Amino acid sequence: MDTKTLETKTLAHPRTVERLVAGQATSDGAGVKLTRVLTQSLQKRLDPFLMLDAFGTDNPDDYIAGFPPHPHRGFETVTYMIAGRMRHRDSGGNEGLLTNGGVQWMTAGRGVIHSEMPEQEEGSMEGFQLWLNLPAKDKMIPAWYRDFPGAEIPEVQADGVTVRVIAGESQGVKGAMQRDATEPVYLDVHLSPGAVFEQALPAGHNAFVYVYRGAVSIAGTRVPMQRMAILANDAQADGVVLKAADEAARVLLIAGRPLGEPIAQYGPFVMNTTEELQRAVADYQSGRFV
Ligand code: MN
Repeated sequence: MDTKTLETKTLAHPRTVERLVAGQATSDGAGVKLTRVLTQSLQKRLDPFLMLDAFGTDNPDDYIAGFPPHPHRGFETVTYMIAGRMRHRDSGGNEGLLTNGGVQWMTAGRGVIHSEMPEQEEGSMEGFQLWLNLPAKDKMIPAWYRDFPGAEIPEVQADGVTVRVIAGESQGVKGAMQRDATEPVYLDVHLSPGAVFEQALPAGHNAFVYVYRGAVSIAGTRVPMQRMAILANDAQADGVVLKAADEAARVLLIAGRPLGEPIAQYGPFVMNTTEELQRAVADYQSGRFV
């Protein structure tokens, strides 16, 4: 773990909040209750991100059925567990247990079939699943998978702020994952009451914040718990400043370089054209995802 002084007050033009989004209560898999924070209608605005689901409950009825085997093609899934245990198995022979601050990064590429099932019958289950698009040239690459236990996620700690660097870079610390095409930044930022955190971001990258504990203010806009703040892309903006309110806060800060390519989605397949979606369905139905 790196412990250092956070570089604060270095940004000249911090981003403002374009709008707040509440997300939609829904269920997925075999009936897992969750909140879809980033919905399909925001895919173009938040390119290269396609979806963010937040799940969090103490009631086993909300999660016990899990996500039985299902396919994906054309993008990546990033699952971040805060509490609880989920067992992953996929058609590539990969198996892993997601737990305690761990991250699973799965590149579906040309096709994978996987299941994500709870490995507990009681207690709380909390976490997030982010879908990150692949550029057209990479949509048919072989599937890939990696688990990062919580202890393998790099952290920066100082001045009442702990940053878990899942992807990209923060305060000079490289995250667990890097991606060339979309340059994703994925940070879990824990702030003490009143603490301030700055993150530099390229102006053209799309960025958003999701608050899952407490509240923060961003350029004077209060962002309460369970809200997403879409950050504006002003040409001169050089980053974002998060300030915790009078209570401790935890937020996800996610940003990436937009691909600017057409997005075609049919359920678990995300390609560039309708023809490619039809091929994905046909390939899946004829057993070519194994
Ligand atoms: Mn899945």
